[in-house]
Amino acid sequence: MQNERQQDYDLLIIGGGLAGNCLSLALKDTGLKIAIVEANTREQLAASPAGDRALALAAGTVQVLENLGIWSGISNKATAIKHIHISDRGHFGKVRLSAQKEQVEALGYVIAARDIETHVADLVQQAGIEMLCPARVAGLMSGDNEVNVSLKCGNESLSVSARLLVGADGGQSSVRKLLDIGQQVTEYGQTALVSTVKSALPNKNTAFERFTSSGPLALLPVDQYHCSVVWTRTNDDAEALMLGSEADFLAELQACFGYKLGELTLTAPRRAFPLSLIRAQEMVKGRAVIIGNAVHQLHPVAGQGFNLGLRDVVHLAQMLVKQHEAGEDIGAADFLRDYAAIRQKDHDQVIGFTDTVVKIFSNDLLALAAARNIGLALLDHIPAAKTLLSKHAMGLAGQ
Ligand SMILES: Cc1cc2nc3c(=O)[nH]c(=O)nc-3n(C[C@H](O)[C@H](O)[C@H](O)COP(=O)(O)OP(=O)(O)OC[C@H]3O[C@@H](n4cnc5c(N)ncnc54)[C@H](O)[C@@H]3O)c2cc1C
Repeated sequence: MQNERQQDYDLLIIGGGLAGNCLSLALKDTGLKIAIVEANTREQLAASPAGDRALALAAGTVQVLENLGIWSGISNKATAIKHIHISDRGHFGKVRLSAQKEQVEALGYVIAARDIETHVADLVQQAGIEMLCPARVAGLMSGDNEVNVSLKCGNESLSVSARLLVGADGGQSSVRKLLDIGQQVTEYGQTALVSTVKSALPNKNTAFERFTSSGPLALLPVDQYHCSVVWTRTNDDAEALMLGSEADFLAELQACFGYKLGELTLTAPRRAFPLSLIRAQEMVKGRAVIIGNAVHQLHPVAGQGFNLGLRDVVHLAQMLVKQHEAGEDIGAADFLRDYAAIRQKDHDQVIGFTDTVVKIFSNDLLALAAARNIGLALLDHIPAAKTLLSKHAMGLAGQ
């Protein structure tokens, strides 16, 4: 038996992941009537293997999380990055960045995605923000004064309307598809392999980024003797490494990383994330705006996806507060166009930077290998360039 219900909101957020939930927290005291639509239950999200991935949070991101009242509840689960060590296997280039030299407390922090996702979802619940879950968008129509959305909640159909719709429903965004927003997809033919290792030697709060001929390998410190591994390999290599034994996987990992941290042992299951760059051709359409991975899904090589998505959240929230306080329409076309124009440069820079790093460092042609080693070696000797790289890592570039 099908039921039909009708509800109205100021703001409807599709997707209760990090981007959607953080946006609702940023707006919780504005008086706006907000609802979040999330396809998966809390139990399903908590059990998802994707929660195992480690997120490197830039210092700028941590500052935002502090402002949103999120950081104090997770800071004890995060590990400070005091040093970043970038090297190129088989070549001479090396770059070392240090928090002390940059005169900051930390260059960034590492945290399991599950820890931050769970805490943010708890805060949304405590704030009493309405959550329609489990529910999916089945259709939407953007009109002059409102956007009408039909949702499927099990057997029940729900019709809701809002002055503004925010699509924060991740890389496979249904909102993006329903709005008929085109996308550019770059298939890297690569897969990120994720796990955790214990090392014989302490990592001293160092994040390692090692570029190898078979792909980049990042070891991010989760405590003194454990690192989260994000290892990018071609799809074929990744499949073989996932199908082979843990011992073979570890032997190959150790060979790629070397013995800077002594002998490594695996302490978590291996997970595989196929990689592509997905970029939406537009950020806004009608009374809708898409944010976070729905508008840009990046390669994790530079650890920028969530950092960039959170800056979408901050800018949109700040603009919405002003627009609402001025008594103006939060879904007005010129207002949304202004938001898109403001975000364009940051998106272009981060996507360009990440894509260049992937392309240069995944290629072992001699000339490129030479160029990148000269680049790394030069960087190590030019303080200004190193500071710029640190700023990128800390999420402060361009600020
Ligand atoms: C291996 C790996 C390592 C990474 N490392 C880093 C890093 O070091 N630093 C960093 O900044 N970023 C990193 N990222 C990127 C980061 O994880 C993402 O950018 C971030 O999680 C995106 O958040 P989001 O809320 O935009 O999307 P998502 O996390 O995908 O959330 C989308 C939400 O929408 C829901 N949803 C989907 N479809 C629907 C629908 N039709 N209706 C309702 N709800 C729906 C989903 O259930 C989900 O809860 C990494 C990613 C990977 C894969």
